[in-house]
Amino acid sequence: MSTAGFNSQNGTGTGQAYANGPSQNPVALQQLPGVSYGMTHQPAYNPMQPKATTSPAPGLYPSGPYQPVPPVSSHQPGPQLSSYPSSPGQPLLSRPLMGGPPPHTPPQSSSPSPGPRLPPAQATPPPPPGVSTTSYYPNPQQPMAPAWQYNTATPPMGPATSMSTHPRGPVANHMNQAASLAAPSPSSSAAYSSAPTPHSTTQLSGPGITPTSMHGYHQPGTAPPPMNLMAPQTYQPSRPAYGPPPTGPPPTMKPTPPPTGPPMANATPPPPKTDGAVAGNGPQASNSYNHVDNKMAGLTQPGPPGRHLGHYPSLPPGYQNTSAPHTTPPMHPAMQAATQPYTQAPQPYQQLPGGPGPAQLSPSLAAMSLQSSTPESLRAVNLLQERNLLPPTPVPAPTPCLPQDLQKINCNPEVFRCTLTSIPQTQSLLNKAKMPLGLLLHPFKDLSQLPVVTSSTIVRCRSCRTYINPFVSFLDQRRWKCNLCYRVNDVPEEFMYNPVSRSYGEPHKRPEVQNATIEFIAPSEYMLRPPQPAVYLFVLDVSHNAVETGYLNVFCQSLLDNINALPGDSRTKIGFITFDSTIHFYNLQEGLSQPQMLIVSDIEDIFLPTPDSLLVNLNECKELVQDLLKSLPNLFQKTMETQSALGSALQAAFKLLSPTGGRMSVFQTQLPNLGVGALQSREDPNQRASAKDIQHLSPATDFYKKLALDCSGQQVAVDLFLLSSQYCDLASLGCISRFSAGSVYYYPSYHHQHNPAQVERFQKDLKRYITRKIGFEAVMRIRCTKGMSIHTFHGNFFVRSTDLLSLPNVNPDAGFAVQMSIEENLDDMQVVSFQAALLYTSSKGERRIRVHTLCLPVVNSLSDIFAGADVQAITGLLACMAVDRSVTASLGDARDAMTNAAIDSLTSYRQSVLTIQQPGLLAPACLRLFPLYVLALLKQRAFRTGTSTRLDDRVSAMYQLKYQPLIYSMLMIHPALYRVDDLSDEGALNVNERTIPQPKVLQLSVEKLSREGAFLMDAGIVMYLWIGRNCHPNFLMQVLGVPNYAAVPENLYLLPELDTAESQRTIAFIGWLRDQRPFFPSLHVIRDESQLKPHFMQNMIEDRTESALSYYEFLLHLQQQISK
Ligand SMILES: [Zn+2]
Repeated sequence: MSTAGFNSQNGTGTGQAYANGPSQNPVALQQLPGVSYGMTHQPAYNPMQPKATTSPAPGLYPSGPYQPVPPVSSHQPGPQLSSYPSSPGQPLLSRPLMGGPPPHTPPQSSSPSPGPRLPPAQATPPPPPGVSTTSYYPNPQQPMAPAWQYNTATPPMGPATSMSTHPRGPVANHMNQAASLAAPSPSSSAAYSSAPTPHSTTQLSGPGITPTSMHGYHQPGTAPPPMNLMAPQTYQPSRPAYGPPPTGPPPTMKPTPPPTGPPMANATPPPPKTDGAVAGNGPQASNSYNHVDNKMAGLTQPGPPGRHLGHYPSLPPGYQNTSAPHTTPPMHPAMQAATQPYTQAPQPYQQLPGGPGPAQLSPSLAAMSLQSSTPESLRAVNLLQERNLLPPTPVPAPTPCLPQDLQKINCNPEVFRCTLTSIPQTQSLLNKAKMPLGLLLHPFKDLSQLPVVTSSTIVRCRSCRTYINPFVSFLDQRRWKCNLCYRVNDVPEEFMYNPVSRSYGEPHKRPEVQNATIEFIAPSEYMLRPPQPAVYLFVLDVSHNAVETGYLNVFCQSLLDNINALPGDSRTKIGFITFDSTIHFYNLQEGLSQPQMLIVSDIEDIFLPTPDSLLVNLNECKELVQDLLKSLPNLFQKTMETQSALGSALQAAFKLLSPTGGRMSVFQTQLPNLGVGALQSREDPNQRASAKDIQHLSPATDFYKKLALDCSGQQVAVDLFLLSSQYCDLASLGCISRFSAGSVYYYPSYHHQHNPAQVERFQKDLKRYITRKIGFEAVMRIRCTKGMSIHTFHGNFFVRSTDLLSLPNVNPDAGFAVQMSIEENLDDMQVVSFQAALLYTSSKGERRIRVHTLCLPVVNSLSDIFAGADVQAITGLLACMAVDRSVTASLGDARDAMTNAAIDSLTSYRQSVLTIQQPGLLAPACLRLFPLYVLALLKQRAFRTGTSTRLDDRVSAMYQLKYQPLIYSMLMIHPALYRVDDLSDEGALNVNERTIPQPKVLQLSVEKLSREGAFLMDAGIVMYLWIGRNCHPNFLMQVLGVPNYAAVPENLYLLPELDTAESQRTIAFIGWLRDQRPFFPSLHVIRDESQLKPHFMQNMIEDRTESALSYYEFLLHLQQQISK
């Protein structure tokens, strides 16, 4: 792997280094030669920026020199540069096998590029314990432990490469005009949905397929209740902390912070992005518009937070009941929304038949009044007094305070969500709010309603390349104004025709301006080479250890069962490599009577024995492939080979996939111990619980990261399945997936006999993995309105340029997060927009672009910022930031910072928003769960201390927090607890003719358990069914099929399907929970004696444990800090 190979990835070809910082990938801080891994989240020091404009610099990763990656504000004024003029005669670039420029990286703009050129990276040293790294406290008298600067000001961006590639000449392209017309065929669209697609295939859509049913937000509460200031008569301010002193983060003293200034008020505007794909003036082309899959499933019905708050039933010392502080009208629409589980029966998007078209947006904006109400979300809640804060149903996403017509067409919060649904006008205001500003995305989510547009002209802003969207404004029929950079653009002639209504002269009714989420079939200028076929390569550990686990049988059987469901078309290719101490290839060439195994034992200098016959056409060679899958498990049955040359196998696989790109699926069962990439055990099991700080969260070697970057450059993503019974150094191995946009699947203690629950999980996960939709050769760019800038990405990818993520594969289960700052005051703006555009090649060989646009209001008061806080999004982003911090600084530091995040935001609320000062620990209603979520994070496997936690388990949890979409990571952070021994049909859902009971979500406290009951805990990837010792015999008999408690089998993981109403209800409920996520949570039935009982109990977040505070103690700790 040469350095040149890395450098070339930025597309400049000049060896210019650019960032792929630990910001996105907390592990892997080692610096590669010649490559700077910038700390994109730490832009305080920028050699290319006048000092005056840098922020006071208490960064997330404080102190020390770092390498700011110029964040990108999406504003790129100036003349449009067309650095990629269309050159009709230009031949298609052929791609070098290795180290060449990636296929979809357009060269950097020829304009001056201060951008991604970074000074050499230096690991930022963690601050000494107790030394403040924050500087934004308004009151210097308040000492605090290290905390985050959420909103660092950032240096100006460099020129960003455009997402689209430049136009090419007569490249042989499947997407010619004729193909475009016929493009949205059933077969092509079928690839994009796992569900059946009964959609119309009409090319020119008629009235029958009017783009109806986009998800609509509810209008923000129309009559929000008045702010209710509680009268906390019973508060005892001098009362000492309940229970033992905090063992968590000590309230470290913080030195006087420097003043917080409005940083970066006048960032130098970057040069424009260039793009050859010129909007407009294209030939008139027909458009087709259809919906992929009309089924609705699993989409959020958001609603404003708001619900009736309960009170303490029984009071520990210091708790007193008070009268109900507030009652929400029971039929408030927000309530109704809130009582709908957000995974159920989504309301369709409201398509606006006659408008409000964008033409009407301006009046709408003018009418917008953000100040007119005091929302329920700002109601002061005294956390020490109100105990029952948890809503009985999943917490909905807050609704941005936008005019109804805008909100109706806004992006679904399950796809695109912001931590603050009201954007502060200035960075200094954001600094005062002390909440992190960032976006959480689930860009390739399986959608049941996805408008797809085929057009030879994709209309984009000529200046900043934003895709036309519902939030642009039309000045007249011929001109539209970009909502990101405000440039006025012409409406292309073709756009005047509306394919939905088949009418002319209604550009504002086009699907592109009626849908916040839309997909385009991309014309040829979005390709650098013809779209590659779907290529799948499986790399299988067949060492003695692997054979012992028995995973190979499950893998081969799963692939055999689902081989026809692998996404692809007639070009799909497949191949296999197995390895132990040597590498085995399989010649599957058509014509052979049986698969031919080729062994390469020279693992130091790996080569491909017969490069042309190892990846074969699946259709043509299916029989041979099936033969191989049937024989593989037996082939190594008697192996005694214990060594694992994983590194060499990966190198071989990389060589094999380099010409086409594709997906590499790696199955590993032990620590690789031979050849390149060999690792040694770094974990001392005896130190798991007692270690003061957790070591070895970063990789032991650069090897996997380097290889991942090579893979990324050749459009290869690596998915890692780690099935192990012992330490495998996931922190090192995981880099292979992290930087190549792959996924990590982790099955600890996997064994085909001893751990059947894990086997079931592996089987179900594999099926989803093999059959789910996939996009190849993908890039994602996130743009935002001028004045805002993006820095610090979270997820699995490689940052190719400042705002462009390289995703060799994209899958529908991957989530992303980004942090943002405000570079220029947004005073004259009422709304800002964010746009994520994902360009990818479908498994059917189509180039497609999926575009999501989110619009949010801009506010100028702290109370409005707080009113719009999205507590779950904040928690999810905080978790990502804490993972980074754990790796770059220390786990203790990350824990302190999380605690301080709660302290800071509540302090700010108390000092700046509350108009009447009152005693107690006060939070706005919208943030009332924040302390609980922070405590949950502190007790989460990723961040907990004082409890024996295997290092791989911890690292795996960190991975999941970073790349799982928010709804799934929230379950990992704060599991849902239900009582299930008394399930009834009252309030049940009806899904596909099945009745799904809807028990209430309970607080995570033993106090909520009852020995007479049975309780289900849903923790995301695992579920526990806890059976009380005196559980009613009826439940035991009707659901578990056993006569009494003693007869409940140990290690029960499968509920019997009994012909009783109780059994059906329970199974339906658990099945329904499972159906809503793309991975399969295993179920463990827990008795008092069960080995897994401690795991269940550790999730009782509100309770005190030996090493962690109870929720009440934690609140007292927060209060102490706040009142200092
Ligand atoms: Zn623009």
